[in-house]
Amino acid sequence: GTQDFDLKAHIRGVPDFPKPGILFYDISTLLRDGPAWRGAMDRLAEIIRPYRPTLLAGIESRGFLMAAPMALELGLGFIMLRKPRKLPGATIGYDYDLEYGKDRIEMQADALRPGERVVLLDDLLATGGTMAAAIQLLRKAGAEVPAAATLIELRFLNGRARVDVPVETLATYD
Ligand code: 5GP
Repeated sequence: GTQDFDLKAHIRGVPDFPKPGILFYDISTLLRDGPAWRGAMDRLAEIIRPYRPTLLAGIESRGFLMAAPMALELGLGFIMLRKPRKLPGATIGYDYDLEYGKDRIEMQADALRPGERVVLLDDLLATGGTMAAAIQLLRKAGAEVPAAATLIELRFLNGRARVDVPVETLATYD
């Protein structure tokens, strides 16, 4: 059953990556384990379904790994939200501030149909900056965003406070 599924047993904390003092939560160990990966995606699919998305969006790059199987599982399509200049054709972008500097996220201008309900996927919620920017981009393009979902939430960074839609997560670290 899904009750006893322990996602944390499949996630590895890597100290001092990508910089000294940072504990990086590595999902590679989850991806390598077929049944565990399927278990995580099945469980998240059941949580996402009630939001009745018409489309999914994955945030570069580990969000793509989630959006693709989730789309198949829910019988939907998905779109890629990418770093600048990666997508061909006309794009819509959203600029946002980082702790030091600026960043930008882009999507294809023709990606959405009218009235689209897009659920966002990424691997991890930290400060919430990436998720908040992705939501703003999708809204700018005309979508409704009923929810976002990640595998992991770093609760001590309070990313949820920056994100104005429900964020569904499978594992939380304090
Ligand atoms: P935020 O914008 O919420 O501060 O950072 C979240 C983004 O950074 C996500 O796209 C996520 O992939 C990446 N990220 C930050 N820290 C980690 C981590 O410890 N593990 C993983 N897998 N991704 C992280």
